[in-house]
Amino acid sequence: MAGLPVYRWRLAPEGLATFRQLRALGLRPAGQPVVAQLERSRRRRGPLVAFLYRIDLARPVRPMTPARWAALERANAARRVCPECGRDAGYRIPSSLGMCVPCADAPTRAA
Ligand SMILES: [Zn+2]
Repeated sequence: MAGLPVYRWRLAPEGLATFRQLRALGLRPAGQPVVAQLERSRRRRGPLVAFLYRIDLARPVRPMTPARWAALERANAARRVCPECGRDAGYRIPSSLGMCVPCADAPTRAA
């Protein structure tokens, strides 16, 4: 498809998901257009490209239950939670740091 943004595998912007990722959340694209593509290296088998959909436009495959909403919320929040202190940093944890900025700046604790 021409004119669509293309992202490297695992570098998709927040708020977008592939069809399989939507299904894992119990969602479906619900007729929305593809908004971007993911490209994967050719070294492994499998699809070379995947289409990305907006999570906020997706619709539940089945009626949403509180547990499903909670799972969706967790999926959205997971990238903001610092693995070091376990707090919601309020922003996406930079992969270069692997932790929130206060943790990265803190002196290493003695064992
Ligand atoms: Zn932290």
